[in-house]
Amino acid sequence: MKETGLSEEKIRNILDDSKRQDLKYEHVLSSMCTYPHRIAVEAHMQFIESNMGDFGLFQGTYNLEKEVLSMLSHLLHHPDASGYTTTGGTESNIQAIRSMRNLFLQRSKCDKPNLVVPDSAHFSFDKVSDILDVELRKASLDEHLRVSIDSVNSLIDENTIGLVGIAGSTEFGQVDPIDKLSEIALKNNIFLHIDAAFGGFVLPFLEEVYKFDFLLPGVTSIAIDPHKMGLSTIPSGVLLFRSSDFLESLKADTPYLTVSTQYTLTGTRSGAAVAATYAVMNFLGKEGYRKMVSECMDLTHYLLKKLADMDVHPLIEPVMNVVALEVPKSDIVRSRLANEFNWQVSITQNPHGLRLVIMPHVTFEMIDSFVQDLKQVLQTI
Ligand code: PLP
Repeated sequence: MKETGLSEEKIRNILDDSKRQDLKYEHVLSSMCTYPHRIAVEAHMQFIESNMGDFGLFQGTYNLEKEVLSMLSHLLHHPDASGYTTTGGTESNIQAIRSMRNLFLQRSKCDKPNLVVPDSAHFSFDKVSDILDVELRKASLDEHLRVSIDSVNSLIDENTIGLVGIAGSTEFGQVDPIDKLSEIALKNNIFLHIDAAFGGFVLPFLEEVYKFDFLLPGVTSIAIDPHKMGLSTIPSGVLLFRSSDFLESLKADTPYLTVSTQYTLTGTRSGAAVAATYAVMNFLGKEGYRKMVSECMDLTHYLLKKLADMDVHPLIEPVMNVVALEVPKSDIVRSRLANEFNWQVSITQNPHGLRLVIMPHVTFEMIDSFVQDLKQVLQTI
């Protein structure tokens, strides 16, 4: 930091210049985030100084958080759920597994707890494993890229604290057979966390019904991210538990604050993101999210139709607006799309493919232009 501050004008110029270097979402087909809704941005700005880490000072924002939790608890079919707003899927996953581990260790002696996750689990579970010293056991996937129930069963032992099911996997947008995972969890008396960070704001609004939430009796916690398909601002995640015991197991005393205990991972938390989530959820309502999801799915099917005409096919029939394509040399295709045409796409690891996420910022014109560019790359690969 310099001794003397810069002028406002100079700072604005630097910021404008930096902003110009950021990619616009109009070139992005790889991200699970998008432009937040206008009303979310307004609410975010209005509550910019609000700190939910000391919510006794911010009673109004705290009430908004309670409303957000209540709306999502109802959406996920368990009005009595307890939880809090996190910074996103990673924090929700860490805290969900931490509470599982704490409750498991309260009732059983165990030197090395383990957790069974699908091979398609987000890399946040590798962080979970490292932070919590819980062994990660990765269950293989079936031909539809859903977790194999046989593989899950074979990995469970007396040190297994619980299972993870994915409702909208990062790479494939696939939904695990969560009804079966729920049965296994109940049979083995272990916990079941559902990572619906992406799919939580998609599945309830699709025409086809997928069972993935608290309606299934074995499901003990769910991560759902308003800052992905919820159109809220970053950082906005939500973690919900079936019972308050889970939250209690995360309790820390906070002697110098206006509230005497915290259950969260971070101390200071964004009240702005809470207000943003409240605003957009109330503005759109279920009807608005249904429309948004339906538009994303229309675009997804439009893309698939155009690609089929070029003999490019998806690895699985997409459940949601995530498409993994069978494309040879996908890593080279990805970098050529970026270098020659300024498109950001990503690749899947296992199996290899080209991955596109059709977020609400995507338009028919974007897809037409992308398909044309992809065709050119594939012709010369
Ligand atoms: N879980 C899933 C299924 C995800 O797709 C992601 C991110 O894309 C995460 C967790 C992590 O979310 P965040 O980046 O908000 O921490």
